[in-house]
Amino acid sequence: MLADCASELYIGRLMLLHIAYKAEKGLDIRQENSIAKIFHAHMVHKVIDTAIQLHGALGFSQDTPLAKWYTQVRSQRLVDGPDEVHKWKIGKNVIKAFREHGTTASAAGGDLL
Ligand SMILES: Cc1cc2nc3c(=O)[nH]c(=O)nc-3n(C[C@H](O)[C@H](O)[C@H](O)COP(=O)(O)OP(=O)(O)OC[C@H]3O[C@@H](n4cnc5c(N)ncnc54)[C@H](O)[C@@H]3O)c2cc1C
Repeated sequence: MLADCASELYIGRLMLLHIAYKAEKGLDIRQENSIAKIFHAHMVHKVIDTAIQLHGALGFSQDTPLAKWYTQVRSQRLVDGPDEVHKWKIGKNVIKAFREHGTTASAAGGDLL
């Protein structure tokens, strides 16, 4: 469980580094931003959920900040646009990329390599 959490956090960090790299170069980051917003909201929620599970009843109590974080982080799937709205735009960009370039790579971080 800890290995899964560490892996997910690592993926999230790499995603943010890629977005920061593109932003620094003045490139369009809207697609990656939407993808990262959804990914992180789910990922952090899952990591906190795992931490609660590992702590047993203690994790669900008010003796650790975990239960409070669990509720707070849930809002990230709504704030700044619900997941569904971001996914709608992400999906549209995938189709647009294929129509314009014959590949969906540019809509999925493909300019990274
Ligand atoms: C803690 C918190 C802080 C916030 N802070 C701010 C802030 O600082 N500034 C600000 O402007 N707003 C803020 N908001 C508001 C937030 O941006 C909205 O709650 C969010 O955009 C969703 O709008 P809504 O609540 O009206 O839900 P609705 O628009 O009614 O959506 C409800 C659900 O319907 C579905 N849905 C909606 N639209 C679509 C669509 N196009 N396609 C498919 N499904 C869809 C989704 O499942 C969605 O979750 C905050 C919200 C919270 C919870």
